[in-house]
Amino acid sequence: MIFDFDCTITNFHLSSSVTLEEISSRPLSEFIEAPLFKAFVEYLLRRGIQVAIASYGKKDIILGLMNRVFSNSIFDEDNVVTPRDISMEKNVKWSEGFNPSKRLLLNKNDMIQLLAHRLGLDLKEICLLDDTEEHIINARKLGCRAILVPKCEKFRQTLKTVLKHFLIPSEVELFMQDLDRPSSDHEESD
Ligand SMILES: [Mg+2]
Repeated sequence: MIFDFDCTITNFHLSSSVTLEEISSRPLSEFIEAPLFKAFVEYLLRRGIQVAIASYGKKDIILGLMNRVFSNSIFDEDNVVTPRDISMEKNVKWSEGFNPSKRLLLNKNDMIQLLAHRLGLDLKEICLLDDTEEHIINARKLGCRAILVPKCEKFRQTLKTVLKHFLIPSEVELFMQDLDRPSSDHEESD
């Protein structure tokens, strides 16, 4: 499963507005519904589903936040892809935090294909979660499954949308029960 970062798993657009210093010092709950995201990722991993992030944002910010959410490095240099990776891979200039220049003819599909290669996955096996419709349409053309999630409505809403698209085994039902609890139950104490 490939997650977009900004506004899909985060509460707001972090890549354009926060520094790495803020990521490491401010309360985690400002940026992400961390307990819920962590629970979902761990659920996927238990079921043998690989996870990755494909984002036009900044790799340092993404890894900084993920290292706070997970004590073990579930997300690393390899399974987090940003314009930095595509620039190196294709020898082009695509700056992190920006859309690719039109003449480069690049889009999120280039990130998906790079991740498929790195993770040894067939494109048909990949599911993209993203709050940008264009990325969803393109990913489907590539043969991937893709789910459009609400923009910047916190991970709770992303998860609700995702669960609707999957057959729900008993374990996922636990998530649904958990989602119906007030959101204060998920707040971190820090
Ligand atoms: Mg986004």
